[in-house]
Amino acid sequence: MAQMLIGGELVDSISNETYEVRNPATGDVVDSVPKGTAADVERAIDAAENAFKEWADSSPEDRGSALLNACELVKERSGEIAQLLTQEQGKTLFEANLEIHHLVHGLEFYAGLASKVRGSHVPLPAKGTYGMVIRQPIGVCGGIVPWNFPLTLMGTKVGPALAAGNSIIIKPASTTPLATLVCMEQIQKATYADGKKSLPKGTVNVVTGPGSVVGEELLSNPRVRRIAFTGSTEVGRHVMEVAGRQIKRVTLELGGSDPMIVMEDANVDLAIKMADVGRYFNCGQMCLGVKRLFLHESIADQFIDALAEILTKKTVGNGMEKGSRMGPLHMDYQRREIEEQVEDAKSRGARVVIGGERATGGDLDRGFYYLPTLLTDVPLDARVSREEVFGPALPIYRFKDLDEAIEIANSSEYGLGSSIWTRSLLYANKAIDKLQAGNVWVNSLHYGYDELPFGGVKASGIGREHGPEALDYYLETKGVVIANV
Ligand code: NAP
Ligand code: MG
Repeated sequence: MAQMLIGGELVDSISNETYEVRNPATGDVVDSVPKGTAADVERAIDAAENAFKEWADSSPEDRGSALLNACELVKERSGEIAQLLTQEQGKTLFEANLEIHHLVHGLEFYAGLASKVRGSHVPLPAKGTYGMVIRQPIGVCGGIVPWNFPLTLMGTKVGPALAAGNSIIIKPASTTPLATLVCMEQIQKATYADGKKSLPKGTVNVVTGPGSVVGEELLSNPRVRRIAFTGSTEVGRHVMEVAGRQIKRVTLELGGSDPMIVMEDANVDLAIKMADVGRYFNCGQMCLGVKRLFLHESIADQFIDALAEILTKKTVGNGMEKGSRMGPLHMDYQRREIEEQVEDAKSRGARVVIGGERATGGDLDRGFYYLPTLLTDVPLDARVSREEVFGPALPIYRFKDLDEAIEIANSSEYGLGSSIWTRSLLYANKAIDKLQAGNVWVNSLHYGYDELPFGGVKASGIGREHGPEALDYYLETKGVVIANV
């Protein structure tokens, strides 16, 4: 049985209760984990507060070294971590390994930034007096993580939190705690100063258990000074409300319905390949996925035929098997949701080009499989046009000119990612300017670049992760006046 990580120790829940984590590809039990309680969160806060006293005083250089060593320790167990991630999440081993690579890259990025946090010197009007702006860590942070990318989305919180000198408590999604626990156990073991010092016990903690208990305590406990939440817009609203009562700092990375706009002058072959990756990677369970495809009418037929051909060849199966290119959906609920969205689109006149049903037969019947799906002639009032589609189905819209595409793209309540595919600078600039999204990519999709800030507008969230920008959310700004008397 797996255990939680609190204060540098692997422990059971105070209640001694546990629950099972199951494999979405087979329904088999992968392992059991402690069912954390509010008292477990209190324990973790005690440990994180203690660790913070020491860690906040460590030198920025030491923080960078510790994060780099944490990367080495994670890599040492990457084979085991990838297997756990595939078994608990459903993604393919290839996708799991890529996720670990992203986690490590992100931690390395913040390791480099730890010693580059700067304040400023400010001349003031009073004689012999000057001001300084200094940046300080906040204290105990809480990170609430979803199940689609349990490791990278844990890393986007742990990296900047530690680089800035904070301690952190991670609450993984109930269904994906296992790979996270191994990674965090390794991170907690990190050493620095040529191995002479260790990360204070409790600098990183993991409390497993339900969002309604463990997550709720992180939100409402005033000793947790900042919450980084990634998940659904629905829970995000609640997070902000509860944290608001505490005047607690919050960042929200929520859902999206990213448009991909392909113009008549695009490199169509490249765009077709990227539409496949952008929609069907991780079985379509990506916040930053291509969720609505806009095709210029002159290239639409050729595009749809070629994409359908790629998708017909995509092998759906257990992520542990070498030949699998797309695993199951993570939960039965997610599969029912996508089924209902596709049925709704069909009932409103949409045409299924390919897929539109479960992948069945043999071992596939044991998991939550769904075929890669393409929908055309999709009306704008269909659920797939208005809601986030968190699975392998892609609605396609034909357009005559860019203004029309942008107007429809912006009609979504979401504004996370977006892309335009064109060789025209005029088109590209217009899209960069007008698309309502936290991110716009030209002839590219986001590969989770750590170098660039990432986040959403409108219902997609508040604040940014990645980039030096993310560090701002883990630092307090203090204004100082010094008079020479
Ligand atoms: P979710 O239901 O919002 O869950 C996310 C996390 O919040 C889980 O750890 C969950 O714990 C926890 N939680 C649930 N109720 C809570 C509460 N009352 N208080 C505190 N925490 C609570 O989201 P999901 O269904 O797992 O994930 C899919 C959604 O996340 C999609 O909408 C997707 O677009 C979005 N997402 C966004 C990004 C981004 O960066 N913008 C990245 C990935 C995913 P339990 O598992 O225990 O319920
Ligand atoms: Mg949920």
